[in-house]
Amino acid sequence: THFGYEQVPVTDKASKVADVFHSVADKYDIMNDLMSAGVHRLWKRYTIETSGAKKGDTILDLAGGTGDLAAKFARIVGPNGLVTLSDINGSMLENGRQRLTNMGIAGNIEYVQANAECLPFADNKYDLITIAFGLRNVTDKDAALKSMYRVLKPGGKLMILEFSKPVVPGLSTIYDQYSFKLLPLIGKVVANDEDSYRYLAESIRMHPDQETLKGMMDEAGFERTSYHNMTGGVVALHTGYKF
Ligand code: SAM
Repeated sequence: THFGYEQVPVTDKASKVADVFHSVADKYDIMNDLMSAGVHRLWKRYTIETSGAKKGDTILDLAGGTGDLAAKFARIVGPNGLVTLSDINGSMLENGRQRLTNMGIAGNIEYVQANAECLPFADNKYDLITIAFGLRNVTDKDAALKSMYRVLKPGGKLMILEFSKPVVPGLSTIYDQYSFKLLPLIGKVVANDEDSYRYLAESIRMHPDQETLKGMMDEAGFERTSYHNMTGGVVALHTGYKF
């Protein structure tokens, strides 16, 4: 489905990313479980547990896709809170909307198709912003970080969950083998889409490492920035605050 998708002039990277996620949208959830052997659930659980999200909060889940984090946050914030599930891709967002609606989540959630580089939200709106496995797909990451900073409340927190650089000796080699050989193969067999999963492996390799991303957050204005490595640095959770 190409629900809500508008053809607009975009960069090569942006149009490649759009193709990839229109293509994988319907198989997205099963592929996530398969590719990470279910471990993405633990990475996300840790993110939720350390988020400090509470009843009544206003939370933005950016590049939220099929809504794993947004679903959990909607339960936490309750009827007086608000969760915005936002994604640039109409197919991913529509799958997320259907999935969450089927889970009985309604009333305290909104769905907004938007580019993280230029968010269509008011200044100082959100208590918490999360972006899970999304930032590496964004073309202009500095613009996106600035945009997130703008819409965050003073005292608010940004959490970036993303693939990063393995820090355990030997892990990089195994990980390279996995992502460049096995990942496209799983993509081919399960989703009949080798190219999209090859893109995924490449985008992970190109993404800034832990210290570089932390520096980019500092540059965008975030304070008390830090990161926490998971699974030997295969994934890192970066946090920063706006004061
Ligand atoms: N957050 C979800 C999760 O953890 O399962 C989905 C992650 S998925 C790997 C990456 C998502 O980023 C896709 O849904 C894609 O459409 C979205 N995305 C890519 N570029 C974006 C941009 N510039 N602004 C907003 N979302 C973007």
